[in-house]
Amino acid sequence: ETIGANLRRTVAQYGDRDALVEVQTGRRWTYAEFGAEVDRVAKGLLARGIAKGDRVGIWAPNCAEWTIAQYATATMGAILVNINPAYRTHELAYALNQSGVRLLISATEFKTSNYRAMVDEVRPNCPALEETVYIGTGDWDSLRDAADRITDEELQQRIAELSFDDPINIQYTSGTTGFPKGATLSHHNILNNGFFVTETIAFTAEDRLCIPVPFYHCFGMVMANLGCTTHGACMVIPGPAFDPAATLQAVQDERCTALYGVPTMFIAELGLPNFSDYDLSTLRTGIMAGSPCPVEVMKRCVADMHMAEVAICYGMTETSPVSTQTRRDDDLDRRTSTVGRVMPHVEVKLVDPATGLVVERGEPGELCTRGYSVMLGYWDDPEKTAEAIDQARWMHTGDLATMREDGYVNIVGRIKDLVIRGGENVYPREVEEFLYTHPAIADVQVIGVPDEKYGEELCAWIKLKDGAEPLDADAVREFATGKLARFKIPKYVLLVDDFPMTVTGKIRKVEMREKSVGLLG
Ligand code: ATP
Ligand code: MG
Repeated sequence: ETIGANLRRTVAQYGDRDALVEVQTGRRWTYAEFGAEVDRVAKGLLARGIAKGDRVGIWAPNCAEWTIAQYATATMGAILVNINPAYRTHELAYALNQSGVRLLISATEFKTSNYRAMVDEVRPNCPALEETVYIGTGDWDSLRDAADRITDEELQQRIAELSFDDPINIQYTSGTTGFPKGATLSHHNILNNGFFVTETIAFTAEDRLCIPVPFYHCFGMVMANLGCTTHGACMVIPGPAFDPAATLQAVQDERCTALYGVPTMFIAELGLPNFSDYDLSTLRTGIMAGSPCPVEVMKRCVADMHMAEVAICYGMTETSPVSTQTRRDDDLDRRTSTVGRVMPHVEVKLVDPATGLVVERGEPGELCTRGYSVMLGYWDDPEKTAEAIDQARWMHTGDLATMREDGYVNIVGRIKDLVIRGGENVYPREVEEFLYTHPAIADVQVIGVPDEKYGEELCAWIKLKDGAEPLDADAVREFATGKLARFKIPKYVLLVDDFPMTVTGKIRKVEMREKSVGLLG
């Protein structure tokens, strides 16, 4: 089934139910209205000469038009290219040229970003780019109006030419470990993943999901949007960019039953001074993904946010994204110390990166996954594709994991972040979890920095709690001595206000390593 066909079924079944709410503006669409709007924009794109397989870029913070464009392109068969709203001209030009975007749907401006000026700047260097449609201006209206030039029969005919294996989406990876790569995904890839992710948390048409995570990333467009539309559930957009207060306000006002986020978002929500003023009693579930969740945060989500069934997911852009997920009846231990077990119709194995052989249960190995969810490849990059997906179709994730006897998986870090100190492997995650138990520490990240004697030494970047006494390396050493092996105790401590982050809320350890070298002198 294609995404357009799937949406038509939902519209037929749940036409009068809420599909989409944009809280900030108060705009809302039922499924019947949403389906009609999607068809209008799909026709508009056809009228503008966009054909199956053409690339349509979208560069905007979260808004209703983003979602409409997502379904409109999938309906008429264009390939949507998600462009990170935090990109600047250099990265924008790269994404537009790398994928050959013909038509760009863009925001005009937001906060300090003047998108229009940046598009003007790169346009001379982007030969494939023919047209830019600015959201919230007459451009968008005229795209909708162009629909009048295409008949229903014509749209139907175009839809009949589509196959579920066609590419419909290029998503650039977060760039946590280097330059973003353009994962190319099919209807089959992401429609199924969106469906199974919310099936696992028992979504029905009664559910209302608050979506503070960015749409340009698979967390937003697949796990949230496709997770909702495959079940007739309602998508609630609390605002254009993440804001903890706006998120909780939206949960309360729209009576949301589910909430998504990366752990740092939940930390910010739980840390609001007036947290207890929000009525979150309608919440029952949600998903936390993207990076490891500290145990304390999970406990508070369950206890104080009513999210007793909150799921942990693990995945990556290249695998549509989710490969493992916790299940509804999992106990707190499985929810806090694992990323769940393999998803339906997906295979997972852990291999020794050196030998390629499957490791013993409990031993760390590189997580490899195979199944419907593995991307078609990196756009226009057969070499990188061949490095990532082997002959037997296993996707090599670059993540180190262990698997328990019960099949539950634990992510221990990325191969690239593993610190090797004096021949000992140190998984920064383990040290971070331990330091997080210190009463003065609000958040902590551990990286390896070059060292003449040991090859690498550990450096902890620490964010202190409000009003806490400053900590130095000696204090940290004292706290850890006797509890952690000596080689796992950080030699250096840097007190910081923030970590370098990707817009998806992930910590850029590459950047931390570069900066540490400067800061430590
Ligand atoms: P790039 O590939 O460009 O360096 P990225 O890998 O961060 O960036 P994404 O595809 O957005 O880009 O993120 C996938 C990665 O996020 C996974 O490979 C894994 O390292 C990490 N990850 C995802 N979910 C979890 C989780 N639940 N726990 C720990 N790590 C996770
Ligand atoms: Mg990656």
